[in-house]
Amino acid sequence: MAKSKKVKLELTIEKKKSCAERINRSFSILNHSNTKVGRMRKRIWQSHVDSLHRFMLTSSLLNSSNLSKSVLILILGANDFIKWFLWIYFSNANVQNQQWINQEYYLAFLRYNIAGFFLFWGMVWICIRFKDSPIIQKYMPYIAVITLCSIYMFNGYCVGIGSPATIAAYVNLICLGLVLFTRDIVYSALIPMTIALLALIFLSTYQLIPYAPLFSDALNQSILIYNTFWVYSMLIIYIPIFFASVVIFEILLLQWRNRENLVNEISQKDPLTGVFNRRVIDRDLEKLHQLNSSYAVVLIDLDHFKSINDRFGHDVGDHVLRRVAKVLNTNIRGNDMVGRFGGEEFLMILQTSYLDQIIEIAERCRKQIEQEYFVINDNLSIQITASFGISIYQNGMTHEQVIKRADQALYVAKEQGRNQIQCAI
Ligand code: GH3
Ligand code: MG
Ligand code: MG
Repeated sequence: MAKSKKVKLELTIEKKKSCAERINRSFSILNHSNTKVGRMRKRIWQSHVDSLHRFMLTSSLLNSSNLSKSVLILILGANDFIKWFLWIYFSNANVQNQQWINQEYYLAFLRYNIAGFFLFWGMVWICIRFKDSPIIQKYMPYIAVITLCSIYMFNGYCVGIGSPATIAAYVNLICLGLVLFTRDIVYSALIPMTIALLALIFLSTYQLIPYAPLFSDALNQSILIYNTFWVYSMLIIYIPIFFASVVIFEILLLQWRNRENLVNEISQKDPLTGVFNRRVIDRDLEKLHQLNSSYAVVLIDLDHFKSINDRFGHDVGDHVLRRVAKVLNTNIRGNDMVGRFGGEEFLMILQTSYLDQIIEIAERCRKQIEQEYFVINDNLSIQITASFGISIYQNGMTHEQVIKRADQALYVAKEQGRNQIQCAI
């Protein structure tokens, strides 16, 4: 009997053990899958971030027409109405808060906001439906900006013309308008809006009109900053405007920075070969002179390049120029530079005055150019050579003189049979 009990006990222990093992295993699987899922999630998240970044960079916000920008602000304005009527409706639905809201004004304000919502969507519809109409293209941006500003001003007046939400929204709208629209559109709304703002401040200060008519006297006469309903209301009113402005500013700034980098690159690089252009060559040489640094100029000219164009066409010639530029670029050190001097001529600025080092670099380039094969078709590939003229800066020389001496050395290299390096003495 005792034996059978023992066996039973062992069996239950065994069962429990295997059960625990199974649970452990499934946990480890779960953990494993968790890390996998985690990694997958991270990748998906990363791809979302990447596509958002790409969208922000490539979306045409900066270059889009005034009409498209009007559609954008009208959609934002229309959605902002939702905030207004949800806020006022739910505020009033709460019995405790009813004391803070002017009950005579409340329904009219609600209706007016619902009407504003439909008005804005109607204007969006007009912009899209008649986007090709010159009249809509010309006048709709003015109408959209003026309507948006008037409605913001009116809503601002309803909750207090001098309230933080009104003043902050006014500043946001000005900044947004100035970066999005042309000056005439912005000022057509900004000037009347500012006059209206000042007039409303003046009239309410002298109690000629009520201050913050949407709020009850009990609220307006209380110390606002201690009234949680008022504080939360200000936040609810302003936060959506703040976030929408930040997003638009962020997109615009990103595109601006991107455009500036592009302009910078275009103004410095030769479009065909991607090496620096003549302007940068001159600027860098000038800088070296100002710093009185020692440097050398290597002028490179492709041999019989005209015949390549003549025999195989300009496209092949362009391809050769690009490949030669690449060879030169890969053979220079950090401080040195390669630029396209003109046509099929390149110029290297090497920041050293040791002739053996300069010759070593030039010789490496010469050999690599000579060894490059340019495939024309299945049966034909061509090679090309280049001649090099070296000149080292000596005290008292202008950079034009340094280049002139390199040119003279190059001339000698051509005269003496090409595909060689010559130094100016
Ligand atoms: P040399 O050995 O004496 O330098 O002879 P060359 O034929 O190289 O010299 P030349 O000055 O007679 O010809 C230069 C040619 O370079 C003429 C021009 O058509 C060509 N070229 C200049 N710029 C470009 C370019 O951007 N693309 C192409 N494909 N060819 C160019
Ligand atoms: Mg030439
Ligand atoms: Mg040439």
